[in-house]
Amino acid sequence: MSWLDDLDDDEPEFDEADVRVRPNPKANRPRTKRRPAHADARTARVLGVDRGRYTVLVDEDGPDEHSVLAVRARELRKMPIVTGDRARVVGDSSGDQGTLARLIGIEDRTSLLRRSADDTDQVERIVVANADQMLVVVAAADPEPRARLVDRYLIAALDAGIRPLLVVTKTDLADPARFLTHFEGLDLQVFTSAREDMPVDRIGAALVGHSTVFVGHSGVGKSTLVNALVPSAQRATGHVNVVTGRGRHTSSSTVSLRYHGHGGRGWVIDTPGVRSFGLGHVDPANILRAYTDLAEIAEECPRGCTHLPDAPDCAIADALQQGRLGPRGAERLDSLQRLLGTFADRPATRGSDT
Ligand code: GDP
Ligand code: ZN
Repeated sequence: MSWLDDLDDDEPEFDEADVRVRPNPKANRPRTKRRPAHADARTARVLGVDRGRYTVLVDEDGPDEHSVLAVRARELRKMPIVTGDRARVVGDSSGDQGTLARLIGIEDRTSLLRRSADDTDQVERIVVANADQMLVVVAAADPEPRARLVDRYLIAALDAGIRPLLVVTKTDLADPARFLTHFEGLDLQVFTSAREDMPVDRIGAALVGHSTVFVGHSGVGKSTLVNALVPSAQRATGHVNVVTGRGRHTSSSTVSLRYHGHGGRGWVIDTPGVRSFGLGHVDPANILRAYTDLAEIAEECPRGCTHLPDAPDCAIADALQQGRLGPRGAERLDSLQRLLGTFADRPATRGSDT
């Protein structure tokens, strides 16, 4: 098995697909010079994008909160604007039928969740902006859980500085205990969910005050979970197609849904089931950085140390030997090495062009 089996990236085109930018961080920022001066612009949250039309929410949490349909200003043609962005809106923002407002820029993002079509692809697609949590949904069975796919989501989250959470669904069909041993070394909140026993309350508590992007392979029960958390969502649910392993009624675009509960609210950003999560754009150094204490120790490593099990004189491995990594040290180093190993398999394309 290699990462190649994740490459059949044949999910339907959805809104992130037209957002293709080079992995140059500057390219994601509005260019101040080209920003038209509009004193009357309002700030709005981008809820979703459908064929060039943006649904945005103006006056979020205010007395005049309502959604508005908008297009982007011509001068922003090349700038990706995605779900979760804070956009500046001008023109008719009444939201009345038949009106279209104009997006003239976006505010700086606090995070940017990206994926590549595959691991060799440096052209990245932006999935969502400004999320601070990612809920990874995986089924205990039907479809079989794959630790490597979950690793990929975790890597993308850690790379983006987004806190990952994990929910294992369909625990009525199989015991997830063995699968979960893969993640023991991670600082990861784990929920389990069964058909008749969904942890709506516990997951809900984790959503309040956050913007949480839900990701998962189709068929894992993500829509079922979203509908339980946000009853008004009415996300289409389907049965797994045993031939392709894909859901029949897979939702095809990213949407923002408001969670209400526990005396507060939060945002649920539901993404279409993606088969692959290419990591062509990810810098492995960001993964190490997510393990703050290990990153500190790694400063003592030889130059170019991979921190993998075969790395000579790795300071982290030495620290473990000397019992300096604490009670879960071995598991944590294991999990770090597994995530870093994902990159060791990757063809060396980084830095070879552009
Ligand atoms: P999505 O593609 O991830 O959005 O998955 P869906 O929510 O559409 O669910 C796929 C199928 O799994 C549907 O037939 C659901 O009824 C079923 N399903 C969802 N959650 C559970 C669960 O906890 N246990 C069982 N046995 N089936 C579930
Ligand atoms: Zn090392």
